[in-house]
Amino acid sequence: MKADFFNKEFNSQNISHAYLFECKPSKKLDEEINNLIKKILCVDKQKNFMFCDLCSSCKSFNGHTNPDFLEIFPDEDLKSKVIGIKTLRGDSKKNRGVINIMSETALISDAKLIKINDAELLNNDAQGHLLKILEEPPKNSYIFLLSSRPAILKPTILSRLNRIKIDPSYFENEDIKNTLDPLFYEVLFREFDLSSIDEVEIEKLKSIYAETIDSIEEFNFSKIKVLDLWNDDYLNFRLNILKQNIFNILSNKLMDSGFKNASAISTLDQERLFLFLEEIILLQGMLENKVSLNKKIQLDSVFDLI
Ligand SMILES: [Zn+2]
Repeated sequence: MKADFFNKEFNSQNISHAYLFECKPSKKLDEEINNLIKKILCVDKQKNFMFCDLCSSCKSFNGHTNPDFLEIFPDEDLKSKVIGIKTLRGDSKKNRGVINIMSETALISDAKLIKINDAELLNNDAQGHLLKILEEPPKNSYIFLLSSRPAILKPTILSRLNRIKIDPSYFENEDIKNTLDPLFYEVLFREFDLSSIDEVEIEKLKSIYAETIDSIEEFNFSKIKVLDLWNDDYLNFRLNILKQNIFNILSNKLMDSGFKNASAISTLDQERLFLFLEEIILLQGMLENKVSLNKKIQLDSVFDLI
């Protein structure tokens, strides 16, 4: 996927009224989508379908006050993140509600647009409400959904959206990639948004990576050491390093290339490696869903396989 993908894909002639952008959250993607929104809303569009950045629509968009644009985020106050129907209907001065904005005439812009972040968190009622709007979209209005897990959405919603799958390669950062160990970059790329990560953070992760690799090296491996060392805020990152390591061992074992790996896990046979992977994925799932757990006990049972 090329860097100028957005400019090529969207021009004034071929914009549909409802899109689903499928991708993990990223600063880079957010900037691209906001630029596209500005182009659609701008009242003084330049040639090549470019926003002017000077009209009242562009200026108010930059200042987060454009009345023809509404950005929806998951509700913060609830324990589990969700986008409920109240948020779509709107109940405050800040949020006039999706249907109100979409069915009114645009106040200062060329069109009206709703952007819904983390759309997979729309609950059942909210999806029903949205479906009605998608079935009969008001004139001159647009809806953008962003989601990293769109399969959770109802098929009836998905069928009414133009799905744009953002290829992960779009987020590759060549500058960072060329300076790092390939395995480290791979893990970093999977877990972090490389368009917003800073050098200090990368340095910190680099040392955690080195320390983690060191702890699973056959020569240095000690289960007790691993349990102590890994029990911190970077557990998920460490598990990803371990996972990547297992993938490497598996792919080489599968290819039977006589590959030598010095990590302690390379002593396991294929069946055990798959079991090990399963345990890691299970633990990551619990971490992601913020299940309260004793990390040390969980790690202990994962590493029981070695
Ligand atoms: Zn403008």
